[in-house]
Amino acid sequence: KKIIAAAAATVMTLGLAACSSGAAGGGDSLGSVGISMPTRSLERWINDGEGLKAQLEDAGYSADLQYADDKADTQISQIQNQIASGVDVIVIAAIDGELLAPVLADAKAQDITVIAYDRLINGTPDVDYYATFDNYKVGQLQGEFIEEQLGLADGAGPFNLEPFAGSPDDNNAKFFFSGAWDVLLPYVENGQLVVPSGKAPASNDDWASIGILGWKSDSAQSELDNRLGSFYTGGEKIDVVLSPNDSLAQGIAASLRSAGYTAGTDWPLLTGQDADKASVVNILAGEQSMTVWKDTRELGNVVFGFIEAIMNGEEPEINDTETYDNGEKVVPAFLIAPEVVVKDDVQSKLIDSEFLKASDVGL
Ligand code: BGC
Repeated sequence: KKIIAAAAATVMTLGLAACSSGAAGGGDSLGSVGISMPTRSLERWINDGEGLKAQLEDAGYSADLQYADDKADTQISQIQNQIASGVDVIVIAAIDGELLAPVLADAKAQDITVIAYDRLINGTPDVDYYATFDNYKVGQLQGEFIEEQLGLADGAGPFNLEPFAGSPDDNNAKFFFSGAWDVLLPYVENGQLVVPSGKAPASNDDWASIGILGWKSDSAQSELDNRLGSFYTGGEKIDVVLSPNDSLAQGIAASLRSAGYTAGTDWPLLTGQDADKASVVNILAGEQSMTVWKDTRELGNVVFGFIEAIMNGEEPEINDTETYDNGEKVVPAFLIAPEVVVKDDVQSKLIDSEFLKASDVGL
């Protein structure tokens, strides 16, 4: 770190004019980076953004971090400001992956390198790299967890399932759903899983019909309230809820609670993703069965490595060149493996690694 800081000072004295300036505060840095994150309403994005910003600043770069309150037009104007301030690289976790083509054309015209962060950006040639977790695998881990817990491979059932999917404007959501549905759909087709609400997509392509716009907990809660109020009036019980992430799982848990389900007795299996504090609390209380943990610090490290390579005129390390076709190009990607966390792993995986503090989750 010292050596890098010294190098930064040298760059400053030798070439003030070459240094960028503006909102990213690039006056005395090795280069400047705009970071555009979707929202502060889910903890993971706070950790993602602040972690990456700190890592960049420690290494002598300047970084401008913006959150867009899950509003696509806000995100676009924040990116426009970053372009105008003369950043070298922009890192974007897109709110609506379909709407960024025009602003990225402006970035390209300024020779700015664009990194899609966690979520792919579609319909544009102007996205250079993509760093993410293996999104299909996230869903597959959720599907396999349900398969195993219920003993579906051994023929058990029938069980009542209520499936949910993520936000229709998020490119990740279809990967999450496909990964899970490739495991579960055969059991829906053979009757081991029954979907009383009828909200069971006939194929992966129909996932958006059960998508929750904006990944909102409240919307997931009222959606399950509606299903319970319409299709479970004769004493039927839900055995399992497929939830793609923790923000939805929290709304689903609230709905189950108000319908009188109790942890340890009739509480259904409930999946999640992110190891969000509130969901880990629910896991410890028996009100969520698992979460797919994506260590956002690892994603930060990958993106930091991308940025260092780009700033040094080198090619970033990628490990996938075939999965993420955005309609204009297959975006070179680096995929990180996600992992399942259940109650018994909270200490060893989340606390011991310092991803969460014991006090965050009441331990
Ligand atoms: C991310 C998830 C997150 C969801 C909602 C997805 O794109 O990959 O980690 O739970 O967005 O913010």
